[in-house]
Parts: sequence; structure tokens; C-alpha cells
Amino acid sequence: MSVCFQCGHPLTADEIAVYKKLVSRSADRFLCKPCLARYFSVDEAKIDGKIAQFKRQGCLLFVQDQKDSERNFS
Ligand SMILES: [Zn+2]
Repeated sequence: MSVCFQCGHPLTADEIAVYKKLVSRSADRFLCKPCLARYFSVDEAKIDGKIAQFKRQGCLLFVQDQKDSERNFS
């Protein structure tokens, strides 16, 4: 399991996906949501908003990690 390279906190699939989306698609190390929010000097809520937005757009980075859960392509 991947961990945040700054604080060592275990990462969720969403955190990895949003890091790839916002920072680098080819990244091989990632930040957790609080560290990512600090990196961009924004609230964590802003990162949550981005995650929700990418999911709504059907971004493959997010969809791939959720193949077993409910999909919504409507
Ligand atoms: Zn962290």
C-alpha cells in the first residue's frame, strides 16, 4: 500500500488519483489529502471538491480504482 511521502499516512485510491490529476500523471510517489492541500495552499475541502468533480467527469484515473463499486456513467 502506498503512503504519503511527506507524512507517511496510508493513501486512499482517491488521494493517489487526485495527485496524479493535479500534480503529475506519471508520479510514483504521492501526497495524502492534508499534505496536498498544504502543497497547493488550499483547504482540504477544495481537494474533496476536485475529487468529486473528476468523478463526475468520469475521469479514468478514478474509475479504474473503483471497478468493483457502483459506476455512474449516465
Ligand atoms: Zn501526508
